[in-house]
Amino acid sequence: MDTLAKLAKDKHIENKKYFDKLKKKTPKNLDYVMQDLHEAEFKKTDCLECANCCKTTGPLFTLADIERISKHFKQKPQQFIEQYLRIDEDNDYVLKSVPCTFLESDNKCFIYDVRPKACREFPHTDRKKFQQISDLTLKNVAICPAAYNIVEEMKKKLSL
Ligand code: SF4
Ligand code: SF4
Repeated sequence: MDTLAKLAKDKHIENKKYFDKLKKKTPKNLDYVMQDLHEAEFKKTDCLECANCCKTTGPLFTLADIERISKHFKQKPQQFIEQYLRIDEDNDYVLKSVPCTFLESDNKCFIYDVRPKACREFPHTDRKKFQQISDLTLKNVAICPAAYNIVEEMKKKLSL
């Protein structure tokens, strides 16, 4: 198990309890605090040094993503689907395999300007009503060092 996955495993019970409380007792300033924590962490994070999200978990592709990306490749949406995607157990379009096919050797994204919405928004630590995605965040802290740090800072800043 890599270091981050181990750290996240050690914190899992603590984090789960924290997010359970957060849902019941959501601070009024949660959105503002998360925005600040997210910005501060990503100022010092270089995603090009990491790319762990692209290496270990692919995004889901919405129909709008498929339209946009297939157009970029001058393909029909159906051709793009057949070439790159499969349907997962939740009935979502996901990549056939990870690391992501569009991840280049220098960790850049080959389709950066048209990448899926899920890639643009990952790890979702600046989204509004952050308490509503706690199950996803509990998983993301094991993948994304920035999300891990943000949750650690969040527990200090907003002790419940
Ligand atoms: S896992 Fe997190 S820190 Fe790493 S590249 Fe993805 S968003 Fe950036
Ligand atoms: S599409 Fe780009 S940003 Fe999204 S997982 Fe693949 S390489 Fe990463």
